[in-house]
Amino acid sequence: MTVQDSIASGSVAPPQAMDYFDVRSLLTEDEQMIQDAVARFVDDRVLPIVQEAFDNQRFPRELIPEMAEMGLLGCNIEGYGCAGLNHVCYGLVCQELEKGDAGVRSFASVQGSLCMYPIFAYGSEEQRQRWLPSMSSGEAIGCFGLTEADGGSDPGSMKTQAVREGGDWVINGSKMWITNGTIADLAVVWAMTDEGIRGFLLEKDMPGYTTREIEHKFSLRASVTSELFFDGVRVPEASMLPGVRGLKGPLGCLTQARYGIAWGAVGAAIACFNEVLEYAKVRELFGRPLSHTQTIQRRLADMCRRITNARLLALQLGRLKDLGTMHHSQVSLAKWNNVRMALDIARDARDMLGASGISVEFCPIRHMLNLESVITYEGTETVHELVIGRELTGHAAF
Ligand SMILES: Cc1cc2nc3c(=O)[nH]c(=O)nc-3n(C[C@H](O)[C@H](O)[C@H](O)COP(=O)(O)OP(=O)(O)OC[C@H]3O[C@@H](n4cnc5c(N)ncnc54)[C@H](O)[C@@H]3O)c2cc1C
Repeated sequence: MTVQDSIASGSVAPPQAMDYFDVRSLLTEDEQMIQDAVARFVDDRVLPIVQEAFDNQRFPRELIPEMAEMGLLGCNIEGYGCAGLNHVCYGLVCQELEKGDAGVRSFASVQGSLCMYPIFAYGSEEQRQRWLPSMSSGEAIGCFGLTEADGGSDPGSMKTQAVREGGDWVINGSKMWITNGTIADLAVVWAMTDEGIRGFLLEKDMPGYTTREIEHKFSLRASVTSELFFDGVRVPEASMLPGVRGLKGPLGCLTQARYGIAWGAVGAAIACFNEVLEYAKVRELFGRPLSHTQTIQRRLADMCRRITNARLLALQLGRLKDLGTMHHSQVSLAKWNNVRMALDIARDARDMLGASGISVEFCPIRHMLNLESVITYEGTETVHELVIGRELTGHAAF
């Protein structure tokens, strides 16, 4: 049958609700295989435990060895025991992990994009050899210390200082809201020096370096968030990242992580959409399923539209990144658009579930609460809007 025949006979298959424009068909076979493998891991290993983990504010650390074995940690880094996948694959990994939970995706983002990436991009060969293989295998866990209590959106005003003393550096200060902090063997810490901002590799047992878990969070509960304290921590010159100085160091890492977040948010939105679509089909009110009402259909259609747009945006961003032509402001637009889309969908799905929607037995409230962090970290929504504004007008408004 020709294409024309199948259209004329009406035999064109209807679109799939969760992938309305068949974005999957734009992926290579290898990319599809990676996506399927991570999706299976999330179904089999993450979803059965994540509700309990979120409920008990517990990071499911037991998942790390399997994630490492699948090559998910630093998967888009070439060499040093890393999988060397393309950036679209890394995006798909983030999307599937966040279908499970943003806490699990955050662990992988911080490990790969915020900790392994700066060592790979700005580190010495010795630093790469020492850390990247053990981080890829999950034996060493990393964290990224940039934000301080006095203002995460303005990292250039950081108070943490590193001062040269003989051949060493002595670091004083603190960091706040640091993912993986208390479980990390290694912290990439950004500090002000007399030559501008520099990155340092701090190890967990260094005298003067302590951490404390931040409790009472109502978001990203299946993730560790911590404070870091540096009280005269002495590190050798060999622990400084030699390849970068200034704000472009940490901002370069954030571009990598935000890229993954733009994909991850799509996963959270799909999970919420899927759950609420199934619920609307079986929930009977006024003598008919909720899904038969106009308003519910409009809300579902709107979710479908926004997810489709976000999916295409993420994929084109990935293709640009793989071509080497992606601009950081395109990452800002994608992070802003996709996280806003996911947060709106999670909140709407929560509402459409009625009272059940406040129970963690349904995923939307967990995703909704997680997305309240995701829209704030790695640059708030406003900061990303202002990045685009600066790009369009040539004037920085922040
Ligand atoms: C769960 C979680 C995990 C995190 N993990 C990490 C991590 O691993 N490492 C790390 O370094 N940081 C981490 N962060 C910190 C995060 O990156 C910061 O919270 C974020 O950058 C915002 O900084 P802030 O919280 O100090 O808010 P602020 O910068 O104080 O912003 C407050 C408000 O002011 C708005 N605003 C800021 N500037 C302007 C302006 N010029 N004009 C108008 N409005 C403006 C913001 O949009 C926001 O609404 C994490 C945060 C959370 C919640």
